[in-house]
Amino acid sequence: MFTRITRSAEETAQLAQMVGKKLHEGTVVCLDGDLGAGKTLFVQNVAKMLGVEGEVTSPTFNLMNVYEGICRVYHFDLYRLEQPEELEDIGFYEYTEDPDGVVFIEWAEKFPGELPEDYISIRIDRQEGDSAARCLTFRAVGAAYQEDVKELDEFCRF
Ligand code: ADP
Ligand code: MG
Repeated sequence: MFTRITRSAEETAQLAQMVGKKLHEGTVVCLDGDLGAGKTLFVQNVAKMLGVEGEVTSPTFNLMNVYEGICRVYHFDLYRLEQPEELEDIGFYEYTEDPDGVVFIEWAEKFPGELPEDYISIRIDRQEGDSAARCLTFRAVGAAYQEDVKELDEFCRF
């Protein structure tokens, strides 16, 4: 586990771009944190590094967007999802197992029982006293991403 403090949206974008240089196909990333924490901004900037050229928009209303970069990029947002049964309909289980894709899941903690066994968790928390500061906590859940998270810790310095 490791944490980084960012002091602006630009710094979070920079951090996300560093992460994007290291992520590889088959990785699942869960993002949690309040509305406006910066989850979508983070995904937008990782996606840029994964070669996604068009605009990456929040999938709050359609629940899932898919992009083509150097690999496939799946972007879920479970905020408005009410029943876990709907996950099947939006391809959640299929896509989170796609070895050729990178998967981002905003509001993953809403459905803890439905998540894959292994994933990288990123929690974004606001910081008291500074409305533009965030604390990002990176954690490997399960065995598969332990090394990747260590590498991210070493690589993501600023
Ligand atoms: P979420 O997807 O978590 O609801 P968004 O990424 O859509 O949040 O929005 C985050 C908002 O917070 C953006 O308007 C962004 O400019 C602003 N912001 C301010 N400071 C930061 C920061 N340090 N990191 C990320 N976003 C920040
Ligand atoms: Mg969002």
